[in-house]
Amino acid sequence: MPTRERYAFASDNTAAVCPEAWAALAAANREPAVSSYGEDPWTKRVADQVRQIFETDCETFLVFNGTAANALALAQSCRPFHSVLCHERAHIETDECGAPEFFSGGSKLHRITGANGKLDLMHAADVLAHHIDVHSSKPRVLSLTQATELGTVYTPDELDAVSAFAKKHALALHMDGARFANAVASLGCTPREISWQRGVDVLVFGGTKNGAAAGELVIFFDRALAREFDYRAKQAGQLASKMRFLAAPWAGLLTDEVWLKNARHANAMASLLAEKLRAAGLGQLAFPREANALFLHLPNEIAEQMRRRGWQFLKFVEPDIYRLMCSWATTETEIEEFVADFVT
Ligand SMILES: *Cc1c(COP(=O)(O)O)cnc(C)c1O
Repeated sequence: MPTRERYAFASDNTAAVCPEAWAALAAANREPAVSSYGEDPWTKRVADQVRQIFETDCETFLVFNGTAANALALAQSCRPFHSVLCHERAHIETDECGAPEFFSGGSKLHRITGANGKLDLMHAADVLAHHIDVHSSKPRVLSLTQATELGTVYTPDELDAVSAFAKKHALALHMDGARFANAVASLGCTPREISWQRGVDVLVFGGTKNGAAAGELVIFFDRALAREFDYRAKQAGQLASKMRFLAAPWAGLLTDEVWLKNARHANAMASLLAEKLRAAGLGQLAFPREANALFLHLPNEIAEQMRRRGWQFLKFVEPDIYRLMCSWATTETEIEEFVADFVT
């Protein structure tokens, strides 16, 4: 019999749509015709829910995916001769096919080092010191990821330090929050405490990995920065005509804290997986487990053996660091089956 391929820990975007998002989509589909291009009640409701949840008067736009959300948010913050500082592991640097550079019309990304996926501000200062005149691009944005690409979470204090640095150097602050929900769940804080109150100007709030089928929010806390963003999104092919079907699942996520419930579950499953693997005495944690991802040093033969048994997951850092990702849909049974295969 061929091995069944199992994607439970490959990424949080291998999961299905969560029931609440699905129900909201079905509800939207039962309604008679509504206005198109975001002029519908569902899109308005999402913008209102975002203002409520973030407890501030912000501007929200919905685009199809995270690459577009990041690239357009950065393009909106930069002129072509500006540049963006980001971590060397940042999604915008490693996984967006040059979209930020393309949509900004030339803005360069400067790679900053730093332990555990977090920006080393000493290195950032060093990079800034080398970009002081007209011959190099002009640094304009500091971008950070929350939770980070290495599964860690910036604390409010760490965000204050990043924000103070950005202010001191007149940089706008962009947050890639593909897993913002997991960060909120991990810290047990409110959304405002790790966004606009810490100086974030524009946040990309991810819905896909949280439980939607598609659709990420671009949230401008600096409302002046949002000016004409609707035109930018349209030009980039990111204005959905049947916007209500992107918005309705989001409304489902944002009602009764489903987004937070999903993130808490994903984080708890990652914690359980870590615990069970530790108890079995296999795999050393490569980075602290703070959200829904686990990064393990694994003997390559063991990873290969798990793959032969059907378990799909990524090698993230050479030579031996593998990523196991949990989602709203991860079950304890899957964890038990994975660990059982792991130890035998
Ligand atoms: C998944 C992810 C995104 C969005 O990716 P898309 O595939 O373009 O939706 C952005 N940032 C991070 C850190 C991610 O993990």
